[in-house]
Amino acid sequence: MSNSIRTIQCRSSLTKSKLPEVDYCINPYIGCLHRCAYCYARFMKRFTGHTEDDWGYFLDIKENAACILKKELKNKKIQGTVLLGSVTDAYQPAEKKYEITRACLEILAEHDVSISILTKSNLVTRDIDLLSRFSNCEVGLTVEFSDDQFSSIFDPAASSISERIKTLEQLRANGIHTYAFMGPIMPGLTNIEQIIRLISGKVDYLMAESLNMRCGNKQEILGVIKWNFPELLESYQNGFSSDYWKMVKRSTEVLCANYGIPLKGFYDH
Ligand code: SF4
Repeated sequence: MSNSIRTIQCRSSLTKSKLPEVDYCINPYIGCLHRCAYCYARFMKRFTGHTEDDWGYFLDIKENAACILKKELKNKKIQGTVLLGSVTDAYQPAEKKYEITRACLEILAEHDVSISILTKSNLVTRDIDLLSRFSNCEVGLTVEFSDDQFSSIFDPAASSISERIKTLEQLRANGIHTYAFMGPIMPGLTNIEQIIRLISGKVDYLMAESLNMRCGNKQEILGVIKWNFPELLESYQNGFSSDYWKMVKRSTEVLCANYGIPLKGFYDH
């Protein structure tokens, strides 16, 4: 299946957020070509006008996002934190060419807004020069597996896990605050201890999240599991109990304490 990519003009860049610890979001793109099998943002498709395209195969590039942001920041003072990329990845492949996220960062830096970025791409290191200009800036990398083979199955177009770990290292070496987002935890595939070992010394904290299969992603997840990990299919079909997730949360807490990594949150759906 080929990708449908187009440029569009947006009417707003900043949107109010209901996410914990985030006050505003900026999504420089609509859609996401990282195409993660479990993606929770696929509900966005119904607001995009892409009736013919599957989620993960279309991308609208908000060509004027920075220009609109500049006007928005002229009219209001931002209190709180702006997250770049809540229903897209701000550093997806098209960003290399279009630099929409970079242009937004230039504007945000002029106003020294507090920012947070969550990505699966090593492209974020291109903007270290800009990120260093913020008084409050943190960058999170999703590390839901410890094995590159698994990430190539579930997040086919994102950077590999090894590249994400190197990215954390590079950001931190340049004085940028970093965190790892271990989510979603995929039962039987996410090796929590190995992940914690990999990120140790490279992050300020860890956030974790249980797997949610109630957001239109169940068929896709089951398809990937059936094809690649048939021995896990039955357990994924049956789902995972709240007692199971309590046990996972507890063991994450213990491992984080053992490795001296603060666990800032464990989101259990
Ligand atoms: S990077 Fe995030 S928004 Fe993009 S497909 Fe993956 S989970 Fe969805």
